[in-house]
Amino acid sequence: MTEVQINRDQLIADLSAMIRCASVNTFGAPTDQGAEAAMADLFEGQLRDIGLEIGTHEVAPGRRNVWGTLKGQGAGPTILLAGHMDTVGVDGYGDPFEPVVKDGNIYGRGSCDMKAGLAAYLAVARHLRGSGTILAGDLVIAGVIDEEHAMAGSKHFGLYGPQIDCAIVAEPSLLSISASHKGQVLTTIRTKGLAAHSSMPSKGRNAIYHMAAVLDALQDYAQDLAHRAPDPDCGRPSLSVGVIRGGDNACSVPDLCEIDIDRRTIPGETSADVGAELHAVMQTAKTAAPALDYDIDTPFLDLPPLDTKANSAVMQAIISACTAVTGRADVAAFPGSTDAPNFNCPTVICGPGDLAQCHSLNEYVSIAQIEDAVRIYVRAIKNLQPDA
Ligand SMILES: [Zn+2]
Repeated sequence: MTEVQINRDQLIADLSAMIRCASVNTFGAPTDQGAEAAMADLFEGQLRDIGLEIGTHEVAPGRRNVWGTLKGQGAGPTILLAGHMDTVGVDGYGDPFEPVVKDGNIYGRGSCDMKAGLAAYLAVARHLRGSGTILAGDLVIAGVIDEEHAMAGSKHFGLYGPQIDCAIVAEPSLLSISASHKGQVLTTIRTKGLAAHSSMPSKGRNAIYHMAAVLDALQDYAQDLAHRAPDPDCGRPSLSVGVIRGGDNACSVPDLCEIDIDRRTIPGETSADVGAELHAVMQTAKTAAPALDYDIDTPFLDLPPLDTKANSAVMQAIISACTAVTGRADVAAFPGSTDAPNFNCPTVICGPGDLAQCHSLNEYVSIAQIEDAVRIYVRAIKNLQPDA
């Protein structure tokens, strides 16, 4: 294979421009929903400058996905390189949007998670264009919105974006490979009582007491989950109650109590399964509190697990590419949830940077690791060609 040509100055310039372009996710706050818009404009310009065919979809007002296509011969798989354009917040971060290159690293908010991945994709496209490589199928390079919050961008792309055969997502993994991770279902459970003056509690129905019965049943359910057969990669499913709200003042019997729960799913479990299990838990709670009246909301976050098969073409291609470039191919479940399952095709995660510090107040990524990522992606793409 010919040496992959990487222009380090260009790579640093691309990534620096992205870091300067603040794209902090507002996490559902109604104001400034267009925080990712400037980043979408920038990334579109970068893709266009390389000569890719631009596509874009507005996912929500002022918030759009953008992608560039390097056209192939129409005789091979369409490969997606995808990454999110948003970042987490910057409270307490000294100078988050001023990129600093030091000791072989580049610092700044989003450097590692995951603008480094987007910059690596640009270098891949530059190399393919520069070397005159015509792929059998299309290569699509996509920047999506909202990964850090509800993953609206990848969900939209999976449903309405171009048809894709397999995908690579450059979430920071220190160039380890992940074909699986847990899913996440966040939902609200509500108990409904009857308000009364607390001097006459028998006139009311106490929603907090009813929630106590629900919490007992949920703890038994969490125990059951902790003893279920583990997924070989992702381990066991789990449940945690993170928030409780209820009552107005000590002198009223509360008519409402709510909890927010976080249920982590493993491959094979769906959010519908979780919903059915939660209703069964509520029936158990009802035996302790027969007057229990409740709602379980539609999940406010519903992310499926990632479950790409080990023998899939994309997995084989990236394992072989990592081995060739770095001499190793570590495969492990990804610790968090990502956009990867939403692309509705076999998808693997492999990217530069360390997840451990990527939401920190001193975010950085190794430039040499971004360059290795570029080499890995180019090789993986070549491995996926029909004549490889
Ligand atoms: Zn990320």
